[in-house]
Parts: sequence; C-alpha cells; structure tokens
Amino acid sequence: MKIETLAIHAGNHGDAHTGAVVSPITLSTTFERDSEGNLVDGRDIYTRASNPNRRDLEQKLAALEGGSEAIAFASGQAATLSVFHALGKDAHVILPDDIYYNTKVIIDSLYKSYDITCTAVDMSIPQKIENAIQQNTKLIWIETPSNPSLKIADIESIVSIARKHQILVACDNTWATPYFSKPFQFGVDLVMHSTTKYFGGHSDILGGCIIFPSDKSETLAQAIRTFQSVGGAVPSPFDCWLLNRSLSTFAVRMPVHAQNALLLAQFLEARPEIEKVNYPGLASNEYHAVAQKQMIGGFGGMMSILVKGGEKEALSLASKLKLFKHATSLGGVESLIEHRYSVEGIHSTSPNNLLRISVGIEHIEDLIRDFEQAFQ
Ligand SMILES: *Cc1c(COP(=O)(O)O)cnc(C)c1O
Repeated sequence: MKIETLAIHAGNHGDAHTGAVVSPITLSTTFERDSEGNLVDGRDIYTRASNPNRRDLEQKLAALEGGSEAIAFASGQAATLSVFHALGKDAHVILPDDIYYNTKVIIDSLYKSYDITCTAVDMSIPQKIENAIQQNTKLIWIETPSNPSLKIADIESIVSIARKHQILVACDNTWATPYFSKPFQFGVDLVMHSTTKYFGGHSDILGGCIIFPSDKSETLAQAIRTFQSVGGAVPSPFDCWLLNRSLSTFAVRMPVHAQNALLLAQFLEARPEIEKVNYPGLASNEYHAVAQKQMIGGFGGMMSILVKGGEKEALSLASKLKLFKHATSLGGVESLIEHRYSVEGIHSTSPNNLLRISVGIEHIEDLIRDFEQAFQ
C-alpha cells in the first residue's frame, strides 16, 4: 500500500465490541487475568510493558517507514538514548558536525562517566567518516538534512563504508520523514524519529521512536525493547492515540510543507538582505545533486538563511515577522523561525547570522508577504 493509505489505515483497528471506527483510548494501567489466574493470550499485562494504543501507534510508525518493528518513546531524546545505551561501555560513535544539538549533549554529558566517546565530522564528505573510524567505533549516526545547515549526507555511501568495518548505521529521519527519504532502502540498521516534529505535526505532542528494517538485528531490537519497557520512558496511551490520529493527515501535510519551502527559498534567495539560503531543493544548492538522487518527490519543509550583516540584523528580521513565530522546534502546521546561535549557547557552531525556518502549511502568499513587510 502507498504511504497515504498506510497513514490512515495502519494501526487503526477500531473497536470490534462497539463497532467504533476509531480505536478507543485504553487508559487502564493493568489488565485482568483469566479465572485461573493465567495470562490471557494477546492481552496486555501492565501498561509500561505494553498497551493497545502504543501497539497501534508502533504498527503505524513501522508501516510508514517501511520497517518491521517500531518502538515508541516519550521523546526523541529517550529514543536516541536507547540506542547509545545499547552500544555498551567504551563505544565510539561518529556523528555529523552539525547534528541536532541535544543528541551530542547525551554523549558529552549523560555518558561522560561511561566512556562513550564521539567524533563529529562533515558527513557530506564520506571520506571524512572513513578517516574517523577507530577500533572501538560501534555506530555511525546520520542526520540528513542536517541541523541547521541542511547538509545532505549520502546514506548509500555511508552504509557501504560501515559494512566494510562492521559498524552499525542509524539515521535520524526526523527532518526528511519517510515521505521524502527512506533510509532502509539504503541499508541502514535503524531509523530514529522525534515524533514531536512532522509526525505529530501540530506542535502539541512530545514523542520519539526507533524503527527497525525487515532484516533487523534481533539482539539490538531486543535491547531497545527492554530499554523501553523496563526503563519506562514510554508515551502515555493518550499521546499514542493522539499521534496515531495526527499521522492520518501526515501524507497530505508533507507535500505542502515542501512546496511552500521551495517557493519561500526561491523568494529569499533573490532578496538583497539575504546572504545565503540553505535549502537542498534549490538548483544552486551545493547538496542539490545528492539530495535529488536520494530524496523522493521533494526536499522537506526545513531551511536556514544567513542574513547579511550579523547577529543584530538576523534577530531584527526574526522580530519583525508576524506569522513566523520566533520559537524553537519544527514540523508543525504553523511556520516558526529561530536564531540557533542564541538557543545553542556558547558551544554553538551555528553562524550568528543564521535563522532556521520551519515552513508551515499556511498559504505561501501570506508567508512571502510576511517577509516583504519585515524587509521594509
Ligand atoms: C527535536 C529533535 C530531536 C529530539 O527530539 P525530542 O522529541 O525533542 O526529544 C532529535 N533529532 C532531531 C533532528 C530533532 O529535530
């Protein structure tokens, strides 16, 4: 089935008992045994371990990504943590140099006393990844497009390097989403999502997940399932239900994000106030060729711009926009703009004139008009 159909029907079982077309929310934390006290086949035991709404959500997430199993978490960060945790002590990880900021903070702060180390490289140049491999390198973590420079990593080339050295490859597919990129087609071992972003789509549910391909490593999947059910960083039944419902419109939201982003990028590229637009859909973009080869039917809804002048000019532009809210996060129906340098703090590697834009699904003419009035 196509992604539009899966987004609606995968993991939506309704309710046979009442005939409800939409599955009910099962809030109960505990489930009854039979009269002899035995577990009932197919029935849950305790909601931390499993719950009907979480199972439905996981089915939909796996189907959208073309995977065999999804494991849902209370946040994207909890999902990422489960992967690093599964690597064990003394592991070395290779990360993109402009990775989602808090992914690296997990290694640098939470794992400081557990001897997990990492090397940050520019993943748009695969040779740099190969050069960074050490004896204890266990994982290459890809994020493409990257945050906030929208660099594109060639997933296929990275997987072939990893295979030679028997290293796992994970792909944070939060920005591209399976609508525009299917990392399993290139052989990655797992996909991670912050479902808080495009999957949720309305900036009102925090969540994350890990998804495995059909030829998954059972040991790794089991370790991550245990981290979820025993560690307990699980999403509530209501959050699972809400995310499942939000995903029903995923495939109609995504093309609008991408169309708007391309038109806005073309408009901004022609403005004298803008030094550079980072959007892989622009023909002028240095990553356009790789993006075209790898991405499907569009380039997503995220971009960043470098404002001529510096920090002051960038902040001033952000403050003059009315429809684009100056706020962090991305992937919601509403457009957001953010000055990454001030959010990331002194360790930030983002240029101080960079604004990251999450292009929403408002009418493109209103979005462009908002920039026109801000430039006046
Ligand atoms: C937001 C985000 C995360 C972290 O997810 P949370 O749901 O905020 O914990 C990880 N990776 C990327 C690319 C993100 O945008």
